[in-house]
Amino acid sequence: MSNQEFLHRSLAAVWHPCTQMKQHETLPLVPIARGEGVWLHDFDGRRYLDAVSSWWVNLFGHCNPRINAALKDQLDKLDHVMLAGFTHQPVVELSERLSRLSGLGHCFYGSDGASATEIALKMSFHYWRNSGRPAKTRFVSLQNGYHGETVGALSVTDMALFKGTYAPLLRQSAQVPSPDWRLAAPGESAEGFALRCAAALRTHLEQHHDETAALILEPLVQGAAGMGMYDAEYLRQARAICDEFEVHLIADEIAVGFGRTGTMFAHEQAGIKPDFLCLSKGITGGYLPLSVVLTTDAVYQAFYHDDTARGFLHSHSYTGNALACRAALAVLDIFGQDKVIEANRSRAAFFNRTAAPLKVHPRVENFRNMGMIWAFEVADAAPGFARKFFEEGLKRGLLLRPIGNTVYFMPPYVISEEEIRLLVSGTLEILENL
Ligand SMILES: *Cc1c(COP(=O)(O)O)cnc(C)c1O
Repeated sequence: MSNQEFLHRSLAAVWHPCTQMKQHETLPLVPIARGEGVWLHDFDGRRYLDAVSSWWVNLFGHCNPRINAALKDQLDKLDHVMLAGFTHQPVVELSERLSRLSGLGHCFYGSDGASATEIALKMSFHYWRNSGRPAKTRFVSLQNGYHGETVGALSVTDMALFKGTYAPLLRQSAQVPSPDWRLAAPGESAEGFALRCAAALRTHLEQHHDETAALILEPLVQGAAGMGMYDAEYLRQARAICDEFEVHLIADEIAVGFGRTGTMFAHEQAGIKPDFLCLSKGITGGYLPLSVVLTTDAVYQAFYHDDTARGFLHSHSYTGNALACRAALAVLDIFGQDKVIEANRSRAAFFNRTAAPLKVHPRVENFRNMGMIWAFEVADAAPGFARKFFEEGLKRGLLLRPIGNTVYFMPPYVISEEEIRLLVSGTLEILENL
């Protein structure tokens, strides 16, 4: 089959996510026939370096031999069984290992990131209700935060483009200033700005703690906001303020978990523990949909009761899917066997050396890096910049999807030195020509 043939069939049959479909009249879909490592191959022999890890989910490359082997083995044992009333080896082992890694437990599974957000919001609210505090029904989140696009998750997301249309469907939540250091005053340090934003959170909770169940945030990096990075001091302050006002802290590590920021979980860098930890995206190495919410013994115990309705009566059909859990176990094995967190430190150091010309490029602003994420803004970006950059990337065999005028790299952790050079030189070339 050729690319062309396939495109017609796809456009006739598939409604694509986050897309005004009419734009595909002029912007061709990219048909992918197979993947290998950081590369995606189309039907006509062209290949694209997946520099955004297929929307931030891929960790160890496409068709990773070790994850493939684990899944093939699991396929002959157990595909799926309902998790209400039943249990199985991959889900137990994964829960034990995630618990050891995070110091939290009682893993409650969902399928996508947004379902993890829904679970955390409902659980927090229900905890307070079970604890005799039924007035705590409100949530607070950071400006420019992103937590998914189902109705509950969207209500704590702060992105006008995704949210505006659906506003009448959504329950109001409060937003407090984002510590993203791009928003700091001239001359203000990232830490100073974090402290100023934490003071605003304190002021908000002083007034609203009685009705607030939880603060939800993306630790260290606000991904959808354009990889907005902030000082870990904000998390330490937020933890202390939430404790003081009896408000839960929900860490949405759907994008930043699993080593993305340089530690297994981003909140570790602040030396804090959240009350709820939401994980998804990288959890299966980008293979299968799976999400999980981990929480504290105190939360778990508040639901443990003779009364059925005090339990957490929430479910998704594919909760704890055995294949997805087995992929996640293979991912954790790779983290251990390859000492991935350490190896990524030297990979990131090489990336930064190679990207030095980008950092000093006259059109590049706010060049930043945390762990395995790089981002910068492009000065005087023309209208339609993101789309043009994407198209220019494809011409050079690079899959790059800027967010507005923010170009970012979030590559799989198996990217080689040669591939890093290709990525940086291709990006420089686009900057010269766009
Ligand atoms: C992607 C993302 C989500 C939503 O996950 P989906 O799997 O797309 O529903 C939630 N929060 C953050 C921080 C994300 O990056």
